[in-house]
Amino acid sequence: MTTSFALALHGGAGTISPQSMTPEKEQAYREALGEALAIGYAVLQRGGSALDAVELAVRSLEDCPLFNAGRGAVFTHEGHHEMDAALMDGRTRAAGAVTGVRTVQNPIRAARLVMEKTEHVLLGYPGADELARQHGLPTQPAEYFFTQHRYEQLQEALAEGRMRLDHSEALTTDAPLAEPSAFPNEDPKKKMGTVGAVALDLHGNLAAATSTGGMTNKQHSRIGDSPIIGAGTFADNRTCAISCTGHGEFFLRAVVAYDISCLIEYRGLSLAEACRVVVHDKLAPIGGEGGLVAVDAAGNVALPFNSEGMYRAYQTSANAAPFVAIYQ
Ligand code: ASP
Repeated sequence: MTTSFALALHGGAGTISPQSMTPEKEQAYREALGEALAIGYAVLQRGGSALDAVELAVRSLEDCPLFNAGRGAVFTHEGHHEMDAALMDGRTRAAGAVTGVRTVQNPIRAARLVMEKTEHVLLGYPGADELARQHGLPTQPAEYFFTQHRYEQLQEALAEGRMRLDHSEALTTDAPLAEPSAFPNEDPKKKMGTVGAVALDLHGNLAAATSTGGMTNKQHSRIGDSPIIGAGTFADNRTCAISCTGHGEFFLRAVVAYDISCLIEYRGLSLAEACRVVVHDKLAPIGGEGGLVAVDAAGNVALPFNSEGMYRAYQTSANAAPFVAIYQ
């Protein structure tokens, strides 16, 4: 047993400025982050596993429509939801991930099933949805995942897509929307989502979990970095646990999570320095916008990002006050 434990989580990175916020909206985000943090931290405090802590924290964020995961997942170009999730156990480097799931209420639970109940690491739709059903995980109809503001984001992205991308099947945007947007100032180009958590438990084990609806207006069957072990999610007791958020194509190309682990393992960098090098010196120059949460085997926490903001929170046994922040 060690004496330190820590949990850090994120609810997405992007152009999140005080100007784009109302006090009510900011309060709602802060409360949701604080609630997920408290759920995961309680698991660690009573000697539970890092794996359980990150899964439960992510489940709480998946159930909150504010975040782009589970219930609040963004729309694909075709107007449906395809969700990705992954988790990894730093003790054994066991991992499980799902891509493109459409009916599972909590994709992170399906990822854990893949890890614990199959011989595989990565399972796609429709097999992943079937596995979840076979094991009795709650599933939901498409309406459960419908949120008006995500729908409006899709309409805006589709309209922009006609100008700058080759979305040959662009939908019409002439139809009036049912209600005004809850978040009228959000920029759908820049706003990214995804939720994730990393933890160190009292037994010295690390774990990471990430869950996302992907990116608004994505082509169907597109897979981002979140469910790819080593890119958006990674954990190894010898180095660190990482969960990323940002423009997935760049995180895939930069193999972000594993690169940070490698800098610690092979170059002896501290967690903070390894994160800084990857997020600011390697990712940003190729155009990769976003950030991540990280924890190492000593309970150090890092929450770097190169975007305007990142919904984030952490709490450690060394400094027991919960920290919740949104902007730089
Ligand atoms: N990284 C996610 C993806 O590309 C999106 C995000 O983090 O907002 O699917």
